[in-house]
Amino acid sequence: MNIVRRGLMLVLSSPSGAGKTTIAHALLKQDMNLRNSISVTTRTKRHSEEHGKDYFFVDADNFVKMRDSEALLEHAQVFGNYYGTPKKFVFDQLEKGFDVIFDIDWQGTQQIAHLARNDLVTIFILPPTLETLHERLKSRGEDNDETINKRMSDASAEISHWPEYDYVIVNDNFEKSLGKIMAILVAERSKRTRQIGLAEFVNELRQGG
Ligand code: 5GP
Repeated sequence: MNIVRRGLMLVLSSPSGAGKTTIAHALLKQDMNLRNSISVTTRTKRHSEEHGKDYFFVDADNFVKMRDSEALLEHAQVFGNYYGTPKKFVFDQLEKGFDVIFDIDWQGTQQIAHLARNDLVTIFILPPTLETLHERLKSRGEDNDETINKRMSDASAEISHWPEYDYVIVNDNFEKSLGKIMAILVAERSKRTRQIGLAEFVNELRQGG
């Protein structure tokens, strides 16, 4: 059988603190065909984060250089910092047949949709309540009160973009949410249009080959 699959781009968006990063890490652990797109950002590194693993932390000059040399697939300003997706890594992985997972906001999602809608699967993750969001941001212990308040006040604006996504998940239970996303991934991978060589396979099948 010579059916190869075109890699897809799986975007997870949510307001900060809805549990998206935890879900993304769990997906990457479970599924060997997934690769993580590591963004560049001008934001300050949190204690728990590692350069090159969670983000590539760069200064504004370097970010602008990358952006202007078209090294970024998409980019946006979020909470006063710049974020962007390095293009080469993503294209290399897709070419190798891997699926790439993105933890990006609605602005980046719109830009990628503009470039490659057919290769894109988008999921919006909602918190069950705004209180849960606040609690998660606080218990993370990584951001100061001012940052948390800013993120809370931006949450409603981020949430307003939910209708632009293919799937919406209310994350009231981590295991259930993870299961739903795995199911989405399995279904999207089986789409006829993503299976290159399918027509030849069916032809041979019908001829008894
Ligand atoms: P955080 O600072 O909490 O890691 O991320 C803040 C927001 O920026 C999150 O909504 C996250 O999804 C988004 N974000 C992270 N990386 C990128 C990126 O490369 N592009 C865009 N457009 N948004 C990003």
